[in-house]
Amino acid sequence: MAPGVAAPFVIGVDLGGTKILSGVVDRDGVILRRRETESPGASEADIVAALDAAVEALLGDEIGALGFGVPANLERGTRRILRATNLPFDDFDLAQHARERFDLPVGVENDANAAALAEWKLGAGRGASSLLVLTLGTGVGGGLVLEDSLYRGWAEVGHIVVQAGGPPCQGNCHGRGHLEALASGTAADAAARELYGPDADARQLVERGRAGDAAAVARLAEIGGYLGAAIGSIANLVDPELVVVGGGFGEAAGDLVLGPAQEAARREALAPADVTLRVVPAELGSEAGLVGAALVAFEALDRAR
Ligand SMILES: [Zn+2]
Repeated sequence: MAPGVAAPFVIGVDLGGTKILSGVVDRDGVILRRRETESPGASEADIVAALDAAVEALLGDEIGALGFGVPANLERGTRRILRATNLPFDDFDLAQHARERFDLPVGVENDANAAALAEWKLGAGRGASSLLVLTLGTGVGGGLVLEDSLYRGWAEVGHIVVQAGGPPCQGNCHGRGHLEALASGTAADAAARELYGPDADARQLVERGRAGDAAAVARLAEIGGYLGAAIGSIANLVDPELVVVGGGFGEAAGDLVLGPAQEAARREALAPADVTLRVVPAELGSEAGLVGAALVAFEALDRAR
């Protein structure tokens, strides 16, 4: 029997900087079993052992393939991990390792690309031919679908310049005025501290905005303006039909940021996107990465047939 006929499910694994989410997932993106553990950041060997354990805990006869979403730059073609962000996980062939260990087809994708794949196939981007998916969390991530195909390269959407000479980026980025420095949850935390004191954070900024606090609404609109500037620039480059915004901060802020973002994006975009470009909330929440990793597993399964 061909693989996949007797094994209708896959295991998706979403490796994050702080946790590993894994799950048994079907073709419709339904998560039947899930598991969450802390990401061991100490060494590459620890991470590989934790990924192996994340798979082993869910493995069974019904599993046809494995998919991994990793916060890393992957080599074109081979999908070898070249360099991970915020994890000691460099120059490692995870697909080969997992294939040899579990004797199953394996797919590996950048985590932001995997989340974009999930929102395109099963979330807010269903039916679109070209879309941009942005994740506003601690940082800003993103993925692109262009002409019915996920862009598999290294798209660092969070590091587009939206304010030349602006505030410095976080982490090992040495740039200034990047989207991540101006429109992430971290940027919203900083705005909240400025307005409400050292203990305030993005959550409080959004709560106050929802309650109608004019200063909070204005700061969230300002963040949306930066987001819209980036979206408008990307629209002028690749003309996506719609832009899907998720991530912890993106989902919490919702229309307080997305409304001003759409307005700013349309102001920057050339026709017809100046009228038609839509900025919409993501639908898959914090599970987009896990579902995307599972879709990458199904791709590997279908290739192996
Ligand atoms: Zn940057």
